[in-house]
Formats: sequence, structure tokens, C-alpha cells
Amino acid sequence: MKVLVLGAGQLARMMSLAGAPLNISISAYDVNSDAIVHPLTQQQLGTGLTKAIADADVVTAEFEHIPLPVLALCQASGKFFPGETAIKAGGDRRLEKQLLDSAGVRSAAYHIVNNEADFKQAIQQLGLPLVFKSALAGYDGKGQWRLKQPEQAAALWQDIAAFLATDQQQAIVAEQFIPFQRELSLIGARNAKGQLQVYPVTENHHVNGVLSVSLAVAGNESLQQQAQQMFSAVANQLNYVGVLAIEFFEVDGQLLVNEIAPRVHNSGHWTQQGADVCQFEQHLRAVCGLPLGSTALVRPSLMVNILGEDTVPQPILALPGLHLHWYGKTKRAGRKMGHINVSAADTAQLKQRFLQLIALLPESAFPELTQMAQRLN
Ligand code: ATP
Ligand code: MG
Repeated sequence: MKVLVLGAGQLARMMSLAGAPLNISISAYDVNSDAIVHPLTQQQLGTGLTKAIADADVVTAEFEHIPLPVLALCQASGKFFPGETAIKAGGDRRLEKQLLDSAGVRSAAYHIVNNEADFKQAIQQLGLPLVFKSALAGYDGKGQWRLKQPEQAAALWQDIAAFLATDQQQAIVAEQFIPFQRELSLIGARNAKGQLQVYPVTENHHVNGVLSVSLAVAGNESLQQQAQQMFSAVANQLNYVGVLAIEFFEVDGQLLVNEIAPRVHNSGHWTQQGADVCQFEQHLRAVCGLPLGSTALVRPSLMVNILGEDTVPQPILALPGLHLHWYGKTKRAGRKMGHINVSAADTAQLKQRFLQLIALLPESAFPELTQMAQRLN
């Protein structure tokens, strides 16, 4: 099978690695250069997008910020999964909120802001504190503003107005600030027959708005049930085919959806070592019409993101249950460069191995890991 992936980053790379044993070969569309490239070498393959779509058995995506004409072209091919509607809903917070509302799942109360009157109405209707998020092109916490005190509103509006003036298509979604205890995510797959397979709920820790650590340990049944119910509501509403990720806030044992990602997700990288079938293979199985695989947790696992570093101390490779995954990218401050997966027989051993890893990593590049290790009990 030949699969064309829109986007040529680490997610396409890991799909390629996961697809090889199933004889699924991946080519990737680099949105920035408008070229078809090999997902591992980044070498241009000398084909245009139209020919690559024609040559592919299946077209899919590894990210949601894709030009609309490209989405339309892929959709017209009849072999694009999860398809235009799902990708658009992941890339535009206005559509995402509409989707969540129509699927009947809880998320933070919101108000769409296009002008100053909307801005004032958002504050009046929702109260403070508020989080303002750009409707388009948001990722890793970029394009977000917080408003805590009413006296900061006028200055914030100036910033937001300047931002809106840069792009006619842009808007802001104002959202109530949620005083959550934890952030969780659920990653799962739905196939064309409507069958669902979800992984255990993952606990996620962000540092400066960017995912740092994901923990997958035998879970809380009540949270798993809630997350699964919301996952199926959203996936069925979209008639979704492929892997879908949903991020949640946990407030007093109740889940609210933060956002969805219509693709494989950073908080699911632990599945490479912690599950029978990893999220990358599972996505390919779903979009290629192959049977879905087991999503059971085979061993407690965690993932640590490597941000802005292109080396890590070599001795970490000697630690049992440790796997290092580089993305082959050029170093840039804060950039997602790779990740480390750690797995163990049980939670106590996972904590022990995590602490061994932390002792070998430079604190400056890997802050706050010790606090996260304390979560494992
Ligand atoms: P990513 O690409 O990492 O998923 P993003 O740019 O799409 O991030 P969000 O996930 O919406 O943005 O927000 C980033 C982080 O900001 C969240 O993980 C959470 O920690 C915090 N956050 C977002 N919305 C709220 C909210 N309504 N209340 C409290 N915290 C929030
Ligand atoms: Mg997020």
C-alpha cells in the first residue's frame, strides 16, 4: 500500500517506520516547500502533489494547518482519511467548538471575538480569568493570551486587535480559564466500519505551554469511561477514520475537552513501547482498511520530550526499558527534536527507572521532571 501523508515532520517519519513491516510505504507532502519528500531522508522525490495523490492508495495528514486548496484536492480524490471536515475542525478553533457542541461533549464556555464589542461581551458573559486563543494556526501554546485582571483588558485588546489586523481569516476564541487538577488525553482509532479501539488515558505535563512528559499507567476506570464516551461521541459525529486524539482537563473527577487533534499525537508516543500496536501503525491500519490492533497497555510507560537539544547523555541508553527516538531535525530553541520512552513491569519500577533517567539528564534542558516522577505511586 502507498500512503501519502500531508505534512513531513516527525509524525510522518514515525508513520513511515511503523508502516514498513506491513509493506506500507509513505511519502510526505512538505507544506512549506510544496514538495513531495521521503519522510525519513527529507529528500525531494521529484513528483508534484497532484501526481502523488493519484499514485497513492490512501491520503492522510500528520497535522491540521494545511492550506484549504490542498485539503479540497485531497478530498476530491475520494481516498483522504480522516478527510477535510475533520482536519478543518482540528485547525480552526471555531469549527472545533461547534463540533464539540454538536457532539454534546463538555468543554470550556467560550465566545468568538472578531472585534472590540465581542471582546467586551466575552469578558461580561464569561467573567475572568479568560484564555484568548487564535482560531487558526495555534500550536504548542502559541497564539494565546491570558486575562486575569479587568484593568489589563484595554492593553490586551490592543495586542489582540493588532494580531487580528494581520490576517482577515483570523479570529479569537475566548475561553473560560479552567482551574484543572490534571491534563489528560485519550488517543484512539475508528475504522470505516465504525469500530473503535482506544488506548488507556494518558496524563500529560506541560512546561511553558509545551508537552514535556506523558504518563501511561493502569488507569482510573471512571476517567477512562468518561474519556471513551466523549471520544466516541466526537469520532462518530465526524464519521472519523484514523487515529484521533482528544485533550482533556480534569476538574474534581470530571472531564472537559480542551481540544482535539485529528491525527496521531505527541501524548501517544509511549505506545511505541507500551502497547501492542503503536498509534502510528494503528492509524495506518485504520486509513488503509486493515483490522485495528490491540490498544491494551502491555507495560506501564512514559514519554519525555527532547526540546531544543540534539544530544542526550549516551549512558541513558544503558538503562533497562529505555528507548530513544530522534526525529533527524536541525536544532532550534524549544523545537521538538526527539523523545525518550521508558517502560517497566509495574508502576514502582517505572518510577525507579524514571528517577535513574532524570539523574542522567541535564536539569536545564529537562526541567521539572522530578515533580512529575512524584506522580508515579
Ligand atoms: P498544543 O499544540 O500543545 O496542544 P495548543 O497551542 O493547541 O497546544 P491548547 O492545548 O489549547 O493549545 O493550550 C495549551 C495549554 O494551555 C493547555 O495544555 C493548558 O495547559 C493551557 N490551557 C489552554 N486552555 C485553557 C483553559 N481554558 N483553562 C486553563 N488552561 C488552559
Ligand atoms: Mg493542546
